[in-house]
Amino acid sequence: MEFRAWFQCINGCSGRYELTEIIYRCPDCGELLEVQHDMDLLKKRSGDEWKATFVERYRANDWPYGSSVWGKKELVCPNVDNSNVVSTFEGGTNLFWAERLGKQWGLDDLWIKQCGMAHTGSFKDLGMTVLVSMVKQMIAGGKNIRAVACASTGDTSAALAAYCAVAGIPAIVFLPKDKVSLTQLIQPITHGVLTLSLDTDFDGCMKLVQKLCAEDEIYLANSMNSLRIEGQKTISFELVQQLNWEVPDFVIVPGGNLGNVSALGKGFQMLHDLGIISKLPRLVCAQAERANPLYRSFKTGFKEFNPIQAETTLASAIQIGDPVSVKKAMRVLQAFDGIVEEASESELANAAGRANRTGLLCCPHTAVALAVTEKLAGRGVFKPSDKVVVISTANGLKFTDFLTKYHLNELEGVESEFPFSAIELPADYNRVRDTIMQNIGA
Ligand SMILES: *Cc1c(COP(=O)(O)O)cnc(C)c1O
Ligand SMILES: [Zn+2]
Repeated sequence: MEFRAWFQCINGCSGRYELTEIIYRCPDCGELLEVQHDMDLLKKRSGDEWKATFVERYRANDWPYGSSVWGKKELVCPNVDNSNVVSTFEGGTNLFWAERLGKQWGLDDLWIKQCGMAHTGSFKDLGMTVLVSMVKQMIAGGKNIRAVACASTGDTSAALAAYCAVAGIPAIVFLPKDKVSLTQLIQPITHGVLTLSLDTDFDGCMKLVQKLCAEDEIYLANSMNSLRIEGQKTISFELVQQLNWEVPDFVIVPGGNLGNVSALGKGFQMLHDLGIISKLPRLVCAQAERANPLYRSFKTGFKEFNPIQAETTLASAIQIGDPVSVKKAMRVLQAFDGIVEEASESELANAAGRANRTGLLCCPHTAVALAVTEKLAGRGVFKPSDKVVVISTANGLKFTDFLTKYHLNELEGVESEFPFSAIELPADYNRVRDTIMQNIGA
């Protein structure tokens, strides 16, 4: 069976464009495009048949289908030849039952989807594998693409750099100077990818890269390129598969440029349309108080949206004031009875500290989602039995500076509620034993 997908305007303009075309916006109205799939073809297989296919492929050795993105290839990007797939075995990340953390908030069924357990340490791999595979296919087909470029708050650039290095395609990353972690900065550098550290913020980098990609033979890898969204939406697929096709009541994701909350919704909607699931979750977008344009808009019932100048936040990957995918996000949140909530620096840091105590090494963005979960639990938005899933977007190991300062109580403007530190001692048995006995309780 031939499956088909194409780009189409999110405003419903009639033009259709091949996925191998270099196009990011609708030529008629200027809005973003999205990938549309030929749903009639996909519906020729039943929901049960699709489930069986996905289960059979999951984490298995039949390349590239063991990747949880390519295991759903027909629903993601049927247009790419397997010979052009650039994959690092994406997805298949742990869905962690946060039993102890949930109990503290009165939740019996809290789960953390550990998307940061990925090749480059964040969930951005899921979308990047699709985009870079399509680029490889375009180049193989004779398209003149000299390099692939993105603006990034640190994780998109790491993923672009790694996938392009895997494929041998030149890449360029635009990073806001001093606004990404050391690990995030070193990632593209290790891969020998042209890394520009610019004296501006993410929004400033985004403007520059868009201009570059509009004028030269350089392909844009930001999530306004909706190929990325197709990969990111597999979070929803993988999540329900791991829950034996049960749909959670709530899914909470941190939001910056808002591609991912849109992608989650798109994924659940597709499963629903294909009869794989029979209900939809409520979606929650969690923003940092210092970079909260969507939260402000939510407060107006999404009647208004105004970009803001984002302020410095510990949640640096979501420090975005002018999100590219805001229209998609607002539509998804309206369709999914969505909620937008914010977390202050202190709330997010202490949510991370609390999570740390229950065995989770947590990045500051995941911490925003956890802080919002805590708030909504306190407000009674969840029933104790609700299945609540928090999307953990990056690996805490990328943010050791944040974790170190939190536990030393050295984060500016934050009073650490769960600090912890190592004890330095001489290697003397009696001193060691006494110290242990004083510290392990009665
Ligand atoms: C990209 C990213 C997000 C937010 O995703 P958007 O699509 O920009 O809203 C959240 N957390 C981390 C760690 C990220 O890298
Ligand atoms: Zn249009």
